[in-house]
Amino acid sequence: MKYPWGDDNPYYSYSTYSKRIFGGRIQKLSIKAGFTCPNRDGTKGIGGCYYCNNDAFNPSYCRSDKSITQQIEEGIAFHAWRYRRATKYLAYFQAFSNTYAPLSHLQKLYGEALSHPAVVGLVISTRPDCLPEETLIYLSQLSKEYFIQVEIGIESCYDATLSRINRGHSFDDTIKALDNLSMRGIMTGAHLIFGLPGETIEMMLNEAQIVSQLPLTSIKLHQLQIIEGSVWATEYRLRSESFRLFERNEYVDFIIKFIERLRPEIVVERLSAEAPPRFVIAPDWGLERADAFQQDIREKMLSLQTYQGKLFKFNEK
Ligand code: SF4
Repeated sequence: MKYPWGDDNPYYSYSTYSKRIFGGRIQKLSIKAGFTCPNRDGTKGIGGCYYCNNDAFNPSYCRSDKSITQQIEEGIAFHAWRYRRATKYLAYFQAFSNTYAPLSHLQKLYGEALSHPAVVGLVISTRPDCLPEETLIYLSQLSKEYFIQVEIGIESCYDATLSRINRGHSFDDTIKALDNLSMRGIMTGAHLIFGLPGETIEMMLNEAQIVSQLPLTSIKLHQLQIIEGSVWATEYRLRSESFRLFERNEYVDFIIKFIERLRPEIVVERLSAEAPPRFVIAPDWGLERADAFQQDIREKMLSLQTYQGKLFKFNEK
């Protein structure tokens, strides 16, 4: 059976999307460009979001004392050694808030990445409150020539949770940022975290309906992990009973229900968090590769004869 995204995978995967957009496999190259974050430098807060430790997802070749070009070259070599060599690459400005700098500095960094002959575009991870008008205009101009996607950390659609995790912005800020990006023709991405304190399964499933109304190109789904070096690492060691973390199989069942409620045009870029085991304090799911986890979800969806958007309801305004 072929689904609306053009193949028999029961959800709209990133590999399907990249074949449609780029004609084949695309590889993201993480870049650490020396940004900080307003939730760490005192502008919005100090200490950051309680679950955050950026080192947990930063590949070893990424260091801000290296030039952008050097990180791209080392990233290409790193991925060629691990996987089949891609022919096209996206420079992924990943660590911290990658639009949190004056426009002239952003132009220098993004311009250097785009000048590399193998790089066809940028993926820029940032906070919804770090997108001033002049940055939006610049990204909009770039997007006429390159693939430009801005990834926003939604994390939760509930203001009470955002306050509880010390995000320092509201869900309304997220809605405005995504609207501003999308109306300028810039691709959008988002992260959500499941298992945040205070949220029930019903609240999390309801987020599928909420984010489906947003102008999103793609979404990354994560189970809450307690990461070494985060504020919650200390809290968890003192009061682990105040966290209710997903068991592995419980999360599989939850994600299937979430995907069933998700708008079918939104690309599901990631199904679970993938921090290296040395950083993960809890939950302990053992050693499982992300592709094996994805395969399990795929097989379960096929056996249940379900698919992305099966229970999606379009909200009429
Ligand atoms: S998760 Fe993002 S916004 Fe929050 S502290 Fe970390 S870098 Fe800053």
